[in-house]
Amino acid sequence: MKEKIYTIPVNEAYDTECECPLCFLQNKLERDAVSFALGDAMMQPDHRETSNKIGYCREHFSLMMQRPNKLSLALVLDTHLKNIRSELDKCEKSSSTSVKGFFGRDKSQNLSEKLCSLLGELENSCMICKKIDSTMEHYIDVLFYMWDKEDDFRNKFERSKGVCLPHLQLLAKSAPGYLSKSRAGEFLSSLLQKESSELSRVQEDIHKFTLKFDYRNADMPWGTAQDAPIRTVEKIAGSITPLETEV
Ligand SMILES: [Zn+2]
Ligand SMILES: [Zn+2]
Repeated sequence: MKEKIYTIPVNEAYDTECECPLCFLQNKLERDAVSFALGDAMMQPDHRETSNKIGYCREHFSLMMQRPNKLSLALVLDTHLKNIRSELDKCEKSSSTSVKGFFGRDKSQNLSEKLCSLLGELENSCMICKKIDSTMEHYIDVLFYMWDKEDDFRNKFERSKGVCLPHLQLLAKSAPGYLSKSRAGEFLSSLLQKESSELSRVQEDIHKFTLKFDYRNADMPWGTAQDAPIRTVEKIAGSITPLETEV
């Protein structure tokens, strides 16, 4: 039996009419994680220590910037920047004390490599991405479990509007690890069939949208095509994070 804290949100996401229930789950996690980073996390020394070290990616800094609470963000930035400066200092010091090594590396090579490794690590680390990835793994686990064992969920999955292409890739990559060989095969072919009919639906809408700009089609009803550009982008590239309005 899978934990309800994961099965309930996945079921709820599949009850919505969205273009990708996995993006729906991810957006919620993202909003909660931004609130936490600028709220409760500020009071937790352990969390502060890790966030000073790991920091946040560009996308998540951008979401934090959109929140009105600039003091919380400034406190996070102040200590994180201090940590970055100290790591850069260490990098410079350790490189200037190291002597020419066995492989003929000189000081400039050493410093270049150390700097790139430090900055690369910093660029790829984010407290919010880390949290989202780990919870999404649980969601993917329960999604496969419920698809395999629960008729109700499998029917919901069949009635859904498919997923975005990045999440299609995630499901395709994960299926063999969660399902038996034959079940993974069934899952993937039904997933692909569904996706193909959903992409065709989206294509119809986006095409209709373009036709509406021809004056001869002025009276043609919009049907479901009015918001086709955003839905098409989201289907192809994944949900675009909406502007933050939450305090
Ligand atoms: Zn998605
Ligand atoms: Zn991030």
